[in-house]
Amino acid sequence: MNKNTPITIAKGDGIGPEIMDATLEILEAAGAALDIEEVKIGKSVYEDGVTSGIPADAWESLRRTRVFLKAPITTPQGKGYKSLNVTLRKTLGLFANTRPCLTFRPFIESRFDNVDCVVIRENEEDTYAGIEHRQTQEVTQCLKLITKPGSERIIRYAFEFAKQNGRKRVTCMSKDNIMKITDGLFHETFNQVAKEYPEIETDHKIIDIGSALIADSPQDFDVVVTLNLYGDIISDILAQVCGSVGIAGSSNIGADFAMFEAIHGSAPDIVGQDIANPSALLNGAVMLLKHIGQPEVAAKIQNAWLKTLEDGIHTGDIYSEANSQKKVGTQAFKDAVIANLGKEPVKLAKAVVVEGSGGIHLPEMQKVCQKKELVGVDLFLDWDEDDRDANQLGERINAVLPAPWKLKMITNRGVKVYPDGFPETFCTDHWRCRFLKVDESEDPTLENQNIVKLMTAIGAASLDIVKTENLYLFDGERGYTLGQGE
Ligand code: NAD
Repeated sequence: MNKNTPITIAKGDGIGPEIMDATLEILEAAGAALDIEEVKIGKSVYEDGVTSGIPADAWESLRRTRVFLKAPITTPQGKGYKSLNVTLRKTLGLFANTRPCLTFRPFIESRFDNVDCVVIRENEEDTYAGIEHRQTQEVTQCLKLITKPGSERIIRYAFEFAKQNGRKRVTCMSKDNIMKITDGLFHETFNQVAKEYPEIETDHKIIDIGSALIADSPQDFDVVVTLNLYGDIISDILAQVCGSVGIAGSSNIGADFAMFEAIHGSAPDIVGQDIANPSALLNGAVMLLKHIGQPEVAAKIQNAWLKTLEDGIHTGDIYSEANSQKKVGTQAFKDAVIANLGKEPVKLAKAVVVEGSGGIHLPEMQKVCQKKELVGVDLFLDWDEDDRDANQLGERINAVLPAPWKLKMITNRGVKVYPDGFPETFCTDHWRCRFLKVDESEDPTLENQNIVKLMTAIGAASLDIVKTENLYLFDGERGYTLGQGE
């Protein structure tokens, strides 16, 4: 008999309460050993003026239990509200989003046979750090942050997940042919970590062809690990082409906390009609049971659920004349799953108890320690004079340059426009000016103080600096890219 594990649940909005009640009934009937604390988050909390959608008592409960089963939330429209999901992920450090996608032919319609692919998406970094700025009349930017520890952690998690679940291959997807430093770090880290798992096959796909292949032949993929934005997109593509958006669960795992949910939203169009499919949240709950070390109960529920699909007892979203026996509502579907507890599917692969369940534990990460040397600076200017002629801007800067600086180049949207630019290049009002030391031997060390002097001189020439970016070498290797055409 398992000792009860405390968990926090939130019934959410829309169909949330209906599918959560059904899920909890199945968990109880299956003998899950849980002490359940319920908290309120979402729409009603937003309406009470809490802009995060999460009140203090919910945070307290989460800190106590560290395990969260969350029904979908309705995200209010409007700028004042923060995305509750993003807040939860970031505050609780839920760095790994895992979305398994399977097909269940011939019982649920799908264009593909035998898909069993898990997308593991980095959940905290990338453009989702939400660091955005408008810098000029015409130009906005979003900062894409990719870190070594963040990459190492998610990639190691993907390999550990593969090992624990008997998976054969891990595919990395990135766009490092274009983003050589950020996506390059992710891909390079993948290659390093892969060496520690020689028993697992690995490959890498550029994200564009990777997404096309996921849509075209999802059965060829096993575990896919990728960055936040790409993972967000390909996991939806995968769920959709498997025909299983309504039945897929997902987990969000961090070092200290874990959150489990359905991948769909609160479905306000079908609320209160007893037609919502509780399967996605139930599958999220099955992942939770494995995480808290109750894999036998997890397998029992999974097998009862698979048997119910095989029996053709289907909710409206997965019902078809050809494959189903009976169209049922939320309640009747839940009752059928409970009646099947203890039974196993005949045709579909039955769930097995995974050895070593109880969460994935990652080793402490080593700190990177390389020699860091300042070698220059990029100053970004807002400039809209002289018909945007880059040569005029270059001359104006050169006329005021203090020692030890030289103006190496000016780019506009990454393309070199000075010196020797093409008059045909389209220019906005946003200019990146790259400054390097004049002579290495004469002035070996560059300091931030030199940058301040440079900025003062540029500012005194009535040029508007909107951003600076220091240029470093790390162990002699360039920590910045060259301009296109540099
Ligand atoms: P949705 O997933 O709620 O609904 C899309 C379609 O799928 C609808 O036709 C709906 O009826 C159907 N559907 C969804 N779940 C179903 C189920 N279990 N059974 C049967 N049919 C189901 O997406 P949406 O309409 O774009 O979003 C509605 C709200 O949910 C929005 O406020 C959105 O922000 C929110 N949302 C929340 C989460 C979350 O909490 N994790 C995720 C996605 C969307």
